[in-house]
This record gives sequence, structure tokens and C-alpha cells, in this order.
Amino acid sequence: MRTIVTMARRIVDVLVPVALDQSYSYAVPAGLDVAPGTVVSVPLGARNVTGVVWADNPAPDPRLHNRLKEIGEVVDVPPLREELRRFIDWVARYTLSARGMVLRMALRRGEQLGPERVRAGVRLVSAPPARMTAARRRLLAVVADGLLHGKADAAREAGVSTGVIDALVDEGTLTVEPLPKPPAPPAPDPSFAAPDFTPEQEPAVAAMRAHATSDTFRVALLDGVTGSGKTEVYFEAVAEMARRGRQVLILMPEIALTGQFLDRFAARFGVRPLEWHSELTPRSRARTWAQVADGEARVVVGARSALFLPYADLGLIVVDEEHDQAYKQDEGAHYHARDMAVVRAHIAKIPIVLASATPSVETEVNARTGRYQRIALPSRFGGQTMPQIEAIDLRREGAPRGRFISPPLAQAVRIAVERGEQALLFLNRRGYAPLTLCRACGHRFACTICDAWLVDHRFRNRLVCHHCGFSMPRPHQCPQCGAEDTLAAIGPGVERLQEEAAALFPEARTMVLSSDLITSIETMRAELAEIAEGRVDIVIGTQLVAKGHHFPRLNLVGVIDADLGLANGDPRAAERTFQLLNQVIGRAGREQGRGLGFLQTHQPEHPVIKALVACDREAFYDSEILSRERTGYPPFGRLAALIVSGGERPATEGFARRLAALAPRHEQIAVLGPAEAPLAVIKGRYRFRLLAKAARGADLSSYLRQWMAGAPKPTGSLKLEIDVDPQSFL
Ligand code: ADP
Ligand code: ZN
Repeated sequence: MRTIVTMARRIVDVLVPVALDQSYSYAVPAGLDVAPGTVVSVPLGARNVTGVVWADNPAPDPRLHNRLKEIGEVVDVPPLREELRRFIDWVARYTLSARGMVLRMALRRGEQLGPERVRAGVRLVSAPPARMTAARRRLLAVVADGLLHGKADAAREAGVSTGVIDALVDEGTLTVEPLPKPPAPPAPDPSFAAPDFTPEQEPAVAAMRAHATSDTFRVALLDGVTGSGKTEVYFEAVAEMARRGRQVLILMPEIALTGQFLDRFAARFGVRPLEWHSELTPRSRARTWAQVADGEARVVVGARSALFLPYADLGLIVVDEEHDQAYKQDEGAHYHARDMAVVRAHIAKIPIVLASATPSVETEVNARTGRYQRIALPSRFGGQTMPQIEAIDLRREGAPRGRFISPPLAQAVRIAVERGEQALLFLNRRGYAPLTLCRACGHRFACTICDAWLVDHRFRNRLVCHHCGFSMPRPHQCPQCGAEDTLAAIGPGVERLQEEAAALFPEARTMVLSSDLITSIETMRAELAEIAEGRVDIVIGTQLVAKGHHFPRLNLVGVIDADLGLANGDPRAAERTFQLLNQVIGRAGREQGRGLGFLQTHQPEHPVIKALVACDREAFYDSEILSRERTGYPPFGRLAALIVSGGERPATEGFARRLAALAPRHEQIAVLGPAEAPLAVIKGRYRFRLLAKAARGADLSSYLRQWMAGAPKPTGSLKLEIDVDPQSFL
């Protein structure tokens, strides 16, 4: 008889940042110290990848035992805390994303996911070498000061390869030393420039301080009109955390636009916060990631992805402009950063603040039912009144043909400019004109691979598809009938509006702000600063200008097409239009004089327009909440969209139909569709949508999981995306 002796090997499950839901088992080599959360390098196929030990595996499949690969090494970064690991599991489960994809967001630092390499420095330590070359001479000139230089930097500066350095190190001319760690960012000083709050603000300040120091999971809605001091008030919560030395995350919908915010933060706390967004250089990403992980970074201001950073001791989350749809990520893992921020706060047992002048309907309902605490700021700071809003009925007072600024609006702009004030003309349409057609034959320029018109961009002199980026030079000749110079621009875009404004007000200085005209965050910030300093009279902008800016001289806002967002069949159209227009008009009259807002509309009797004109926010929420309740839309029910796309129409539609047929029966969940998507073709891919609509209590995630488990996998060019809590219905 043979006795089988097996060495008790420790086995752990490691999650790797690739599009997989399951973790893999690895053996732990003797002497390697790992625990759940340890960041490790493991072999995966032919590569080595950075992964995270997710759990001990006390009872691995014995058949696997001897075939298991071993963990390579432990990466020298703090382990991912349980809090973050649970959050990753939660987000993956809720959004039906692969856990590896969610982990990827947490490990994203620099370009690679691997460990941050300790940067090597070189220093000149002895006399020049015997053998001299031109390359060596250039390099020695760079390091002649005897100071420590970054190895790669020195090579670049001297225009030599790092091999030249290595050879001089071998010969003893240079030594290699690790570059010192960058100094920790200075901590914000809570009493650097604390403001004096007004008696009106005091109750909110007290409530905010109590909220921040509650040491438990609590959600507060900081609710106040634009300019009421919400930022000042939540800075008090940040100050409380700074006193306790805990970390704060401030989420912003559009980090590119927050230059003013960073300055304001510095004015209040004496230091700038750290930023986190997609445009950081790989090196500063790696550095920030490490500083967040070891607790040196105290305050992070970031886009939604900052939610996945490995905070050492997160004490508070603030979600500014919580209603903003930019918080929804619609590629990869489809998650809503505001909702996931609440989840993260819940897991970490910390308070969270949602700030908005126009809360999402979901948040408003939670505040009305008392699940969230409402901390209200009653009015604008400094006695500034809210702008007065008027509708201009385009059916009676429209602009002349081919023009878009109505006579009453033009008159108001003229007066503002004469007074030396600023005016903002708002139109949420990039480019010159949304449609180009041939006057001779009626031909319309459409994208060849999307179901969309090409948008005329005169600054670039091209026709551009806003869905796939396809573009072509603006032709002089109609491709269909061959006629020359017959092409007509139909409808307005911001570029065309600028042309009109310049013609109407030749003395005024105009500026267009539109995301496609911005080359970098820096130019964007510079342009916004120019406006704030008053060097522009008429600003013409898309929704880019709506968000959070403070332009002291701006008193007039004209909305060129208030109906634009109301037209489509999107269940959130009313809410979104209300929020956006409120926010845009809120730019007016923030500092001096009375703000004025004009809404050009064909339907002045529409509830959204009426609520805006009457400044009756409650009326809007009352009617919107009622209608959501009646129709079972969020938050009175939950939705998930399934989007099937593919290169051929019949196969795509067929797959969508098969999915629908396989949907499990459920008393509280209805599956609607498939229907052709409003954007029926994007990038040559046909699109069909299914919508699962669940009653409030139903477990929609489990339902979807069960459905997908029994459904065929998309093959070939077919693709299936699942969007839980969809924001976009296109
Ligand atoms: P919101 O975030 O609600 O739009 P802000 O916090 O930006 O409002 O406040 C609007 C303006 O009023 C800002 O310039 C802000 O600095 C100023 N402000 C608000 N409250 C105070 C205060 N108590 N003392 C001094 N300035 C204040
Ligand atoms: Zn296209």
C-alpha cells in the first residue's frame, strides 16, 4: 500500500484586472506573506499581470492542486482594504459587470497596472572616464553639478540612450541612487480662511458640521439655489475631516471645468487639493494613487473614477451637482457614480453629502420621505435675488427667417452690452448647423455608417458625425445632383449663433465655448478665466458653460431653444431640461444687479417652461414625481436596458428577439421590446433595445443574472450591453 503525502500548500484566489468575473487560484510559495487585499504579480497565460488576493481558498479542487501556478511576487503597495474589495464586488454584482473590469478601475494608475517603479537617479562621483565620446560629453555636462538627476530625464536632456549611462556607472564615473519619494502634499488647513456665515446660512452650517462628524453612514442633500453658498457650506464638512486628519473625496461631474474650484479650495484651505481625472499624466496618476493609498493625500477632487481609488482612511464623500448626468458612465461598467458613492459611503460607514440646486428626482424623493436629510440654504448669498425669467413665444415673436435671436432677446442683449454687462446665449448644439442640404435637389448629408445627419463645423470647415467622429471636407458641389454652391445650413449651432451675434452687435466681443473647440483643459481654464475677468461681452456656449462657473459680470442669459431637450421620448427629458435650464439661467446675476433669463420656446404652456418662469421648483417636482409614480418609472420602479448591436440587421434583430423570448417570467418584472433604438445605427452597427421594468421591491440584478445565464452568448459581430438604471435611452 502506498501512502500519498501531500504538502499542505496554501491556496488563494486572485482577482485579475481583465474582463473576467471569476478569480483564479494560485499557490502561495513558502515564505511569501499574503493576505486578502495583497497586491501581487501572477502568471496569467503567457503574461504576468498585477492582481489582488481576494480570498483564502481553504478547500481548492484537489485535482487542481498540483497544477496550480504560483504567485510571482508581492507588489510593494498598501493592500486593498476590505472596504474597497467589498465595494468592487458590490458594483460588479449590481451593474452585471465582470469583477475584473471593476478591479481595473481601482488599480488604474499610470499606464500600466503594475507596480510603480522606484525611479532611478544618477550622480557624478568621480573624474571623467578615460574614453570620451560626444554622447558621454553631453551627458557629463548635464550631470556636472554633482546633484542627483533622474536617470531617464538626464538621458533625455543629453539626447543619449540610457545605455550610455549604464556604461558610465559600470566604469565608476556615475552612481545610481533611488530618487527620493516626492514630498507628501501639504494638508489643508481648516482654519486658513474660514468665512463668516450669514444668519441665514448658520443653521445649514451647523447641520453640515453635525452631519460630517456623525461617524456613521448618513446621506444629506445640501439643497439651495445656485449662489446660495453650498460650496462654502460643504467646505465646513471638509474642514471637520481635515481637523480629524481623515480623507475626503469631492466628486465633480466635469473635472475639466474645475479650475475655478481648485483656486477656491486653495483660498479656503491654503492648499490645492489633489486632482483625479483622465487627463493626468501617467506619472502624476501613479503618484496620486500612491499618496491616496498611504493616506498622504487628504482631499481628492475627482471625476467619477476617483470613487475607486484605494483610500487609506476615507471619512467623507461630497457629490457636487449630484443630478448631473455626466456621473453615469456608459461604457465598460455602466455605473452611476452618485449612486455608487452612496454605496461606498454605506460600506465605509461614513457620511456623504449630495449637493444640488436641482436634485435628481430620485434624491428629491429620498429627501421628501426622510431617508436623506435635507440641509437647505434658503436664498442667494449677499442679498442677490434669483434671476427673473420670461418665456419668449417663438410662434409670435420669432426671429426673422434664417436667424435665431428673437427681437425681444436681441433688445435685452443690446441693453446688457451697453451697460457693460455680460450676456450668455445658450444653445446645446455644437458646430454651425445640425443639418446641411442641397437647395436644388433636397439631398441631405448623412453619416455613411450612422443613422445621423452630419453636423456642419465651419471653424474646421468640415461636416462631422457626432456619433462616430466621421468627417469630410465641406463640399462646394452637391454629390447627388452636381449643382454648385447650393448647399444650405439648416438650423443653428453655436458657431452660427456667434456669426449672428457678431452681425447684430458688431461692437461686442464674442466668444464661443464648446467642447469641440477646446484643445486642452488648460486652454479651457484660460478661456473661462477670460470670461470671469470680463474680457468678453457675449458668451455663446453649449452646456459646458452651464456648470458651476461664477462670472461676476454676467447678468443676462438667453436660451435659444428651450424645447430642444423636451422633444425626445426619453423618460428623463423633462427632468433634464428643467435642471439644465435652471443651471444655465443660474449663471446670471450672481454678483451684482438682477439677473434676467429668457427662454425662447414654441410651447410656453409646457409644465417645465411654466415651472421655470414661475420659479416654482416644487411645482415641477410635484408633477414629475406624480407622473413617475403613476408610470412606475424610477425611483418608483427600476429599469435596466439591454442593447443588442451587430453588423447585420436581421441577425441583430433576431438575437434581440431570442433574448426577449427567453426572459424568465416574473410577477413584478416586465420585459419590453425589442425595439429599434432611436439611434438605430451607430458606426455601422444596427441597434435594438430591450427594457426590463421592475417594481420597486423586485431584485432586478438577480433577475438579469438568471436571464443571462439561460440566454445564448452573443457571437460573431453581435454584442450585448446591459445598462442598469439607464440614463440615456438612445
Ligand atoms: P453655490 O455652490 O450654492 O452655487 P457658492 O458657495 O458658490 O454657492 O456661493 C456663491 C458665492 O457667494 C461665492 O462667490 C461664495 O464665495 C460667496 N459666498 C457664499 N457664502 C459666503 C459667505 N458666508 N461669506 C463670503 N462669501 C460667501
Ligand atoms: Zn457616424
